[in-house]
Amino acid sequence: MRAESGRTKSLWHGTVGDLSRPTLESDARADVCIVGAGIAGMMTAYLLARAGRKVIVLDDGPIGGGETGRTTAHLSDALDDRYTDLERMHGADGARLAASSHRAAIQRIAQVVETESIDCDFAWVDGYLFPSGRDGEERLWEEMEAARRAGVAVEMAEDPPYEPFGGSMCLRFHRQGRVNSLKLLDGLALAVERCGGRIHTGTHVTAVHGGSPVRIETASGATVLASSCVTATNSPITDYVVTHVKQAPYRTFAIAARVPRQSVADALYWEDADPYIYIRVQPGESHDWLIVGGEDYKTGQKDDDAERLDRLAGWTRERFPMVEAVEYRWSGQVLEPADGLAFIGPNPDGAENVFIITGDSGHGMTHGTIGAMLLCDMVSGRENEWSKLYDPKRVRIGAAADLARENLNVAVQFGAWLLPGDVPDETDIPRGSGRVIRHGAHMLAVYRDDAGEVHQHNAACTHMKCIVNWNDLEKSWDCPCHGSRFGPTGDVLNGPAVKPLERPS
Ligand SMILES: Cc1cc2nc3c(=O)[nH]c(=O)nc-3n(C[C@H](O)[C@H](O)[C@H](O)COP(=O)(O)OP(=O)(O)OC[C@H]3O[C@@H](n4cnc5c(N)ncnc54)[C@H](O)[C@@H]3O)c2cc1C
Repeated sequence: MRAESGRTKSLWHGTVGDLSRPTLESDARADVCIVGAGIAGMMTAYLLARAGRKVIVLDDGPIGGGETGRTTAHLSDALDDRYTDLERMHGADGARLAASSHRAAIQRIAQVVETESIDCDFAWVDGYLFPSGRDGEERLWEEMEAARRAGVAVEMAEDPPYEPFGGSMCLRFHRQGRVNSLKLLDGLALAVERCGGRIHTGTHVTAVHGGSPVRIETASGATVLASSCVTATNSPITDYVVTHVKQAPYRTFAIAARVPRQSVADALYWEDADPYIYIRVQPGESHDWLIVGGEDYKTGQKDDDAERLDRLAGWTRERFPMVEAVEYRWSGQVLEPADGLAFIGPNPDGAENVFIITGDSGHGMTHGTIGAMLLCDMVSGRENEWSKLYDPKRVRIGAAADLARENLNVAVQFGAWLLPGDVPDETDIPRGSGRVIRHGAHMLAVYRDDAGEVHQHNAACTHMKCIVNWNDLEKSWDCPCHGSRFGPTGDVLNGPAVKPLERPS
């Protein structure tokens, strides 16, 4: 089985038992094969299995080994791309549909939790958005008006239950949610299996060939034939270019601090900044957890992760004097679509009967659930009013500036081919760490393990040949272009790459 998507552990990892299942060892058939057992894949499998479809889920890690195990799991329709911007990019109807789809996703999660009696700490809570910067209050008023036009239940409030950002004026969004994401996946997996669905972990998918049926190939040689395939791999492995040039990978950081019970009101708190700080409470039996996230940067383009976590911890202690200890620190990756909304629908390269869910935009718990609801209808041939809004092929003129900026940034990354590398020689690499070294015309990703043994791979990402960078916190090679990630010894942790880093010739 491959490693999980990072070395750090989130608050959720210790709260569930083993989430692995037997690997796929022989050929199989299904109505729908779902690749990826995060929120998008497991919710899709659940809804289809409940509708009587024969489903098979394949994942190369354990269930929840990707970003869903690292989320902070705010369930929210207070979209962080802001309704003022969504209205500009998608029109008034688009903003209204975005709001109603996120609301429907929160309601669907609540309904599934109740129907299946999943013990996952789901609760309805309010969310508070605080202003930031000089014209922050003015922007907040505009955001309230735009959110209301989109049908969101929101009001200006002067009595937030806590004031982490140093001002009392804020927007209150009603009936948001929170959940323990891994307990939710655990419950979904058991429900899928009760409906006759199969889940295979430790099963790396190497190719998906569209058609009737779709043929899904795995690293062990076993194949699945299915009427449809949903690739819910977070970053699509079935689309080489189209969605990847319209979204950008960002690394984000989170900590969980122990606080006395009920010392911070159980709610969601956000700052209206970019990047912003996001906060929530996770009630416990003897104490509560305060979960604080932020400090985002573009994947593979900084190497100060430990300092970022320290800053987050310091900020938290300053604003929440009741913090007793910061016990968890972790990071993960989110994909930011240029126009703020996920890409859900037919695979953009036209592969027959293949569908994708991607573009979480920091709202992946709800975007993943929207994906499940929308694709459940598409696979069944039913109309869904959200399909145009989330169409993976869409281009929104209003997002052109963001699109150009991100793709210019990608182009700049190819300049790494001309650089000398991080260090001149492998003896400069500390144990348990990696560096890029130039070797003639080649760039090598060199990892020295804890025992001192050196592992060399070609540093060119197997997706589009950008040079990967070492991530010392998560012990991974991260691609600064489209977010592919590889373990220290080259195995794939995150798409769009499906092949490991190559051995040097
Ligand atoms: C720190 C952090 C905080 C966040 N906070 C929030 C929040 O408050 N609210 C919110 O809504 N969202 C939040 N997000 C985003 C959200 O958690 C994610 O967008 C969401 O969990 C992604 O779900 P997914 O199912 O798309 O992907 P994943 O959970 O990553 O699942 C994809 C799965 O596909 C598998 N896979 C990939 N490639 C292959 C292959 N070739 N073969 C087989 N399997 C494969 C992986 O192993 C993985 O298990 C946060 C994310 C992070 C990192």
